[in-house]
Amino acid sequence: MSGDALDTLVASLRREGVRITTARRLVLDALVRGTPHPTAEELLSSVRAMAPDVHASTVYRNLDELERLGVVVHTHLGHGPATYHLAADAHGHLVCEACGRALEAPPDLFGQLARGVKRRLGFTLHPYHFAVLGLCAGCAAQTPART
Ligand SMILES: [Zn+2]
Ligand SMILES: [Zn+2]
Ligand SMILES: [Zn+2]
Repeated sequence: MSGDALDTLVASLRREGVRITTARRLVLDALVRGTPHPTAEELLSSVRAMAPDVHASTVYRNLDELERLGVVVHTHLGHGPATYHLAADAHGHLVCEACGRALEAPPDLFGQLARGVKRRLGFTLHPYHFAVLGLCAGCAAQTPART
């Protein structure tokens, strides 16, 4: 675990003028230390593992506030509920429709796409909001080509 990563994050948010309450700190702690791509519900259970008395509404409200402040972003990896990342850690995703695995897209991949779309259509892409779906290499090898 890395209490240090959390302390560094909290210190830099404070420098930016973000107020860090106990509940916010717990939410950030759960994001730093918990499983990757937690849903709001999974974040709640990580927070409760540290502070059993915290109300669900407090956790959800603070998650919303942190998102409005630009500290946290959400991503839709598939049909399920949204998942959360620290904004500093945001990245694009490729999700396998067969096994559900989420791959982190290399940053240049969507960067190139975003520049091309902007140039050709004037459209500003937000490549981190939704995942791009398909088949991972392993599943593609087992699945007859669908064309
Ligand atoms: Zn991710
Ligand atoms: Zn797969
Ligand atoms: Zn959304």
